[in-house]
Amino acid sequence: GARVSARVGSIAESATLAVDAKAKALRAEGRPVIGFGAGEPDFATPEPIVRAAQQACADPRNHRYSPAGGLPELREAIVTKTARDSGYEIRPNQVLVTNGGKQAVYQTFATLLDPGDEVLLPAPYWTTYPEAIALAGGKPVEVPTDESSGYLVTLEQLEAARTPRTKMLLFNSPSNPTGAVYPPERVAEIGRWAAERGLWVVTDEIYEHLVYGGAEHVSMPVAVPELAQRCVVLNGVAKTYAMTGWRVGWMIGPDDVIKAATNLQSHLTSNVSNVSQRAALEAVSGSLDAVAEMREAFDRRRRTIVERLSEIPGVTCPEPRGAFYAYPSVRELLGREIRGRRPQSSAELAEVILEQAEVAVVPGEAFGTPGYFRMSYALGDEDLAEGVRRMAELLSEAK
Ligand code: PLP
Repeated sequence: GARVSARVGSIAESATLAVDAKAKALRAEGRPVIGFGAGEPDFATPEPIVRAAQQACADPRNHRYSPAGGLPELREAIVTKTARDSGYEIRPNQVLVTNGGKQAVYQTFATLLDPGDEVLLPAPYWTTYPEAIALAGGKPVEVPTDESSGYLVTLEQLEAARTPRTKMLLFNSPSNPTGAVYPPERVAEIGRWAAERGLWVVTDEIYEHLVYGGAEHVSMPVAVPELAQRCVVLNGVAKTYAMTGWRVGWMIGPDDVIKAATNLQSHLTSNVSNVSQRAALEAVSGSLDAVAEMREAFDRRRRTIVERLSEIPGVTCPEPRGAFYAYPSVRELLGREIRGRRPQSSAELAEVILEQAEVAVVPGEAFGTPGYFRMSYALGDEDLAEGVRRMAELLSEAK
């Protein structure tokens, strides 16, 4: 029989990490690859956060196990931060500190889903969601969107996808991979729709601070308070404070859900590294000045990448309004000849671009929508300009 269980054997490798690994491997061979693959800021973690971690290392309190649910000081600080940033009033026992937002994603589905429960999943979606839903025994039900709607799902689409088995909606704004941001009135509309039908909403707000050009982030349980008893908010320090490697995230939910999820985490991983939690404590209780600086740089790169991509014949790039991703359509280029190859899919086209232009992008196949690329613009301005220039040069040869 199979050596690996059916459950785990069916999990695909993370395409985003795979692209990043391939780009790094080529670079190690000495090839000047420019990577638009990784979903991480190119900035260093702000100094005060690093100092807090250094001090934490020297403090023997942090050398021992701490409560599985998170350091009490950090849970308190997350309560305060949540009220400050989104106006959502919660108590500390509604917070569970996790090993990155990713663990919060897995634990939320594991805690809420029974076998066969359906989760409405607007596509393009972050590549981890369907895997986490399936591992928890649930069934992801994709609700497709495209650039014509700015990648925003409508109530009609959600209603058409709903069945008696529908348990929840996964909501992610600002979105990875599209950078789409739902306007406040749409957030409220979708939240009310879910509340009226007794559905749960898991809302991933990890990019809350990265919005541009007048776009506004609103937290769904704030827009729709009656949803709070059936809502889990996911968040973390990775994207806001350039802390991807520190691995601190959290889930916010009703007491009973957080208690159950904490029981699960107590057997899975116990507490998150105390040093990282002390760093996160400094991050969430400090000012948002460093974030504002990074946002300004991202905004500049965002405008550059959209402008340059839009100049390439066959590429259509709607303007992203949040996170740090552009999600251009490359469908018009498929089936055309480029340097002796005739790529039929965005995955094949991405391969040609990596080989011929030494530029790494993540194909839309990873996000449930073939025919697109996800390009992270969280890289340096010069690399960004050079990477898009190389792409444009290569793609202009398409016949
Ligand atoms: N949610 C979204 C939408 C993301 O893009 C990511 C990271 O890519 C995460 C959650 C998890 O981030 P982390 O586990 O690094 O905190």
